[in-house]
Amino acid sequence: MGTKPSKGWNRKDWVSLAPFGLNQQHPNAYREILEAVWENRDSLGYAWRILSGGCCDGCALGATGMRDWTLSGIHLCAVRLRLLRLNTMPAMDWRVLEDVAPLLDLGEKPLRQLGRLAVPMVRQKGDKGFRRVTWEQAIAVIADKLRQTDPRGLAWYLTSRGLTHEAYYAHQKVARFIGTNHIDTSARICHAPSTTALMSTVGCAAATCSYTDWIGSDLVVFVGTNVANNQPVAIKYLHYAKKAGTKIFTVNPYREPGMERYWVPSVAESALFGTRIADDFFQVLPGGDIPFFYGVLKHLIENNWLDRDFIARRTSGFEALEAQTLRLRWEELERGSGLGRADMLRFAEAFGKARSAVFVWGMGITQHRYGSDNVRALVNLQLARGNVGRPHTGLMPIRGHSGVQGGAEMGAQPSAYVMGSPVSEENAERFAEVWGFRPPDWKGMGAAEMILGAERGEIDTLWQSGGNFLDTLPEPDRVYDALARLRLRVHQDIVLNPTMLAGPGETVVLLPSRTCYEQRGGGTETSIERRVIYSPEIPGPRPGEARDEWEIPLLVARQLDPEGAAKAFPWKDTGDIRAEIDRVCPTYRGIAKLKQKGDNFQYGGPRLLADGFRTSDGKGHFSAVKLTREQVPKGKFLLSTRRGKQFNSMVQDDSDPLTGARRDDVFMAAEDAARLGLQSGETVVLRNEHGRFRGRVKVDRIQPGSLQVHWPEGNVLVPSETLDESGVPNYNALVEASRR
Ligand code: SF4
Repeated sequence: MGTKPSKGWNRKDWVSLAPFGLNQQHPNAYREILEAVWENRDSLGYAWRILSGGCCDGCALGATGMRDWTLSGIHLCAVRLRLLRLNTMPAMDWRVLEDVAPLLDLGEKPLRQLGRLAVPMVRQKGDKGFRRVTWEQAIAVIADKLRQTDPRGLAWYLTSRGLTHEAYYAHQKVARFIGTNHIDTSARICHAPSTTALMSTVGCAAATCSYTDWIGSDLVVFVGTNVANNQPVAIKYLHYAKKAGTKIFTVNPYREPGMERYWVPSVAESALFGTRIADDFFQVLPGGDIPFFYGVLKHLIENNWLDRDFIARRTSGFEALEAQTLRLRWEELERGSGLGRADMLRFAEAFGKARSAVFVWGMGITQHRYGSDNVRALVNLQLARGNVGRPHTGLMPIRGHSGVQGGAEMGAQPSAYVMGSPVSEENAERFAEVWGFRPPDWKGMGAAEMILGAERGEIDTLWQSGGNFLDTLPEPDRVYDALARLRLRVHQDIVLNPTMLAGPGETVVLLPSRTCYEQRGGGTETSIERRVIYSPEIPGPRPGEARDEWEIPLLVARQLDPEGAAKAFPWKDTGDIRAEIDRVCPTYRGIAKLKQKGDNFQYGGPRLLADGFRTSDGKGHFSAVKLTREQVPKGKFLLSTRRGKQFNSMVQDDSDPLTGARRDDVFMAAEDAARLGLQSGETVVLRNEHGRFRGRVKVDRIQPGSLQVHWPEGNVLVPSETLDESGVPNYNALVEASRR
């Protein structure tokens, strides 16, 4: 193994001699570029300035302009290109909202394509639509309602796409100024289990390594994630990792085609002949990760492939875990994981003999009712091999939205203030000293709990900045009913979505926001590898009366308590907010100096935990997590939800170029299809006590006994109330499948 990629072309990793993967199913990057040009043809200059000057508002891999800090060369992907139009489209005609009836069946994509929200609007119960109001009137309506609301009934939700630290910081501070800790972001619906597990095992909730650690590591393992779809430029990093001798494993119920082979458009060799990505696949059952990781650990112990010295010096809790692991029988591990003892040995041998390994994981393991334990089980393996703090080792929760890492760290979460300081009396006092008001000291609700709280009548007001609960949370009918009970909903956003059209309990207010590129004074975001990056304000059109994202909640705070707000929020622009973050949050010290395109710093440096863990005793904590096993009654399937050609709930195309699947396809193993007498393309109906889904069979390479459907369409089958300890819904379900 070398730590530097070889320069020559390497035929053994080519996919095919047919140039550009002609006649193979894969994304066509050149067509995506042409489509982006066509979509943005009325504002090409502005689109170019955003791409070349701003940070990416897509996933959290992180880029400044079209460059990054991992490789030289272009950093650009179809995800970013397809999001571009959100930033360049002109204002919608607000009159279409005067009667919402014709809009109700349109769905998310046509609503989004109507254009940017441009003026404040209000809808009262009984109105057939929204009426245009001034900003002063809109803020007065909100403030009036909030004066009548117990702060414990007020919930606040922020999306993770395109919002900057400055906006998160302002929103969570205003929410706490008003008196609530019910504050959450879409980041937590994805990775709250990672935060919970990492805090309890290693004491920090961020990736411990950098992307450069992938290149030249002996082994990089992807668990429950498909970076080819969600963070496409990561595949370019893997192309070069392979050239440096790195082996790549994936652990997933489905053999994702994009993780198997890919044509990287900005690398000539790969663009022409493709790159074989994963060296081995471990197709676990949904929910089979813990038994699989236990099986791997059992082999590590039995073959003495452990780093005993690291375990003795740097960790605690291994004896209990070792005893528990050795008690487990192979049969139960095989039944639970869906894989054989030999598969676990194959993984364990490669992993146990690797001098370095990085684990990268996504929502395939976090969005489970035991998502936090899934992550703890994965951390066990890395601690057992001493794979933290050294070059080419680490733990990396991979995140799909640009604001995912920073949003939580700015305090937009229900159980922690800024930088993960737990909600408590002591910390409330500490923040009272710096903020001049005492934030509440009780633990708030997460997003899924907010809707359950609304059902129970405990939540009566919801402020959403971005976000689309109807298309993201389980059991949409229940979500609709809960939304329609709320006395006040405030939707602050750049475009329209179906959640805004749910009937008002009493009042719904729409407030038009500016994008991160339109924000005065620019803004900052944090990438997966903890790089805090400055994105400047980009000159260009500013639609209608939209206002800066961070400024809008302040208008309400000032109306509610002018004197208190003047002291708490003395900001004129985002530079003032960064100066405050710099003072309040030691981890982000230096953020005040970020002023120009490309300005950045990586907090903690390239690697965390080299000198010690950040737990209270400085040790890495092993966790003897409970062995899970999904009980699947005869005739039922384990259903998981998956992403296609989409960005979160924004579906971009009806078919996924990576898999060829249409939105209503049901991924099914050949032997299951044969047992049901079904063939690819035939209708299949999935049902359970929560709902019914009619789709088409797609026979594919998925673990028998499991099915996959696209998210959010599959949410009709997903239970609302099965939450992980961190509050994340279990986006999996037991279903029956039949022809009708
Ligand atoms: S990989 Fe992520 S950060 Fe990079 S361009 Fe694509 S969406 Fe943006």
